[in-house]
Amino acid sequence: MATDTTRAQPPAGSAGQGSDRLDWTVARRLAGAWLRDRHQFAGAKLPRTCPICGHTGIMIGVGHPPRWDSRCARCGSRERHRLLWLWVTEGGGNRLAGKHILHFAPEKALRKALGTNPGYETADLLQPGVTHKVDITRLPMADGIYDVVIANHVLEHIDDDRQALRELFRVLKPGGQALLTVPLNPTRETTYEDPAIKDPAARNAHFNAPDHRRYYGLDFADRVKAAGFTVETFRVPPPLEVRYGLLPMEWLYIATRPGDAGARAE
Ligand SMILES: [Zn+2]
Repeated sequence: MATDTTRAQPPAGSAGQGSDRLDWTVARRLAGAWLRDRHQFAGAKLPRTCPICGHTGIMIGVGHPPRWDSRCARCGSRERHRLLWLWVTEGGGNRLAGKHILHFAPEKALRKALGTNPGYETADLLQPGVTHKVDITRLPMADGIYDVVIANHVLEHIDDDRQALRELFRVLKPGGQALLTVPLNPTRETTYEDPAIKDPAARNAHFNAPDHRRYYGLDFADRVKAAGFTVETFRVPPPLEVRYGLLPMEWLYIATRPGDAGARAE
């Protein structure tokens, strides 16, 4: 339960536990956020906790318009990364330990948390420093080699997201799982998309970002199932959404390639 009503400290003093170097990181990030938008620190704020790095304190507003309490001041995680990590560590273990993982468009916070895994690989078409510089709709990997694929806010950027989902299915082992998040409007049953809308300003107006191809609706799960997956969703109770600084209308999709129950990634 989110019963901790401790008031957040002023930005310069809100670093959580950690080394002096990490405390400096927190102070620097909070100072930068204050300079960009000091209004986000107005009034009393509830401290949030990052399940990835353990930081407890004020989080930082990001986005246009900003989502306040979005970015962890220490590791930089956003809401979706913390939600995914809560699933990974649900029950006190680590569902990804020892798994062969392919992480698309790897985000810094998750990359750091997962990078110690010897089976961890990264992929992107444009991002430098990844293991595989690849197009998600035409992967060069062999069939059935990964236990887990992670793609946070990737599919909305892909023209043919159905083909990308088929490729994720193909490279997963039977029983393997794709961990997926997308921008989704849960008040709409169906996904809004129009391939004729290509202008960045128009895409921004229609799909909420200049490089998004669509705005998913609740039928996103049907699109994932059409690639062959079974689909489950994960979210946490509202008090924990508050505690961990999550979005109340975002959940994690866990897409499993059916197969031998003994080969399941969990
Ligand atoms: Zn963090």
